[in-house]
Amino acid sequence: MPPNLHHRPAVRILGVRVDALSYDELLARIADFIAAGAPRQVATVNPEFVMEARHNAEFRAVLERADLCLADGVGLLWAARRLGSRLPERVTGSDAVPLVAERAAQTGWRLFLLGAAPGVAERTAGILRSRYGGVQIVGAYAGSPADVEAPEIIGRIRQARPDVLFVAYGAPKQDLWIARHSAALGVPVMMGVGGAFDHIAGVRSRAPRWVQRLNLEWLYRLITQPWRWRRQLALPRFAWAVLQMSNVKREAGSGKRQA
Ligand code: UDP
Repeated sequence: MPPNLHHRPAVRILGVRVDALSYDELLARIADFIAAGAPRQVATVNPEFVMEARHNAEFRAVLERADLCLADGVGLLWAARRLGSRLPERVTGSDAVPLVAERAAQTGWRLFLLGAAPGVAERTAGILRSRYGGVQIVGAYAGSPADVEAPEIIGRIRQARPDVLFVAYGAPKQDLWIARHSAALGVPVMMGVGGAFDHIAGVRSRAPRWVQRLNLEWLYRLITQPWRWRRQLALPRFAWAVLQMSNVKREAGSGKRQA
């Protein structure tokens, strides 16, 4: 069966919808979105997103309306299992950007890279062009999520007419920015990708594959970016909330069986 015909049910994790997609299925959905042409929003959800959404109503609404919420974060796969469902694999922004670029080199999709520190998007574009010959990167610009800059940035993007816009302003800024300007931008696929350009451009190192395989990327981040500790407190809080929720579900299940 072609990947775009799979439709596994989405999983709800502490109120946030997470779509059950693999990388292949993501590429197939992106192809569908580009063919349809209407603006679509893709979010790369991790436990920090879920905890932010609990107290940030605007962010919660944006995730709810997003066309795809990807499981970027091994904690979500664990949470899904605890809650009795399954997500097929982790789908990260940092890995999706090069995969989309590779596919774009074959299909002709036009890509625009927005965000990160000045020069980083341009460096990322150079790296992707050298890796995936023929890929059309029609714009690379740091910009800023500040409202005053929006008209100029939107102008640049509209003029470049990308099929896919990657936005690297970190969460929740990037996702709120996309939602706010989605209609004006009119890009078929707009995806928040966090630190993806930093990883590709080598500005910040990503955990080695073996650390990722041990599901310890969060620990690597904590050690290499200790200033994130406050944000990473979201992880134990997330785990605790999931465990409580799964216990409630279990008790409700055994109550029903006894009744
Ligand atoms: N960033 C930016 N403008 C801002 C805030 C952040 O361009 O006002 C960029 C920052 O340079 C980095 C990315 O957004 O490239 C955020 O990366 P992070 O790993 O913090 O993302 P998250 O963990 O939120 O996905």
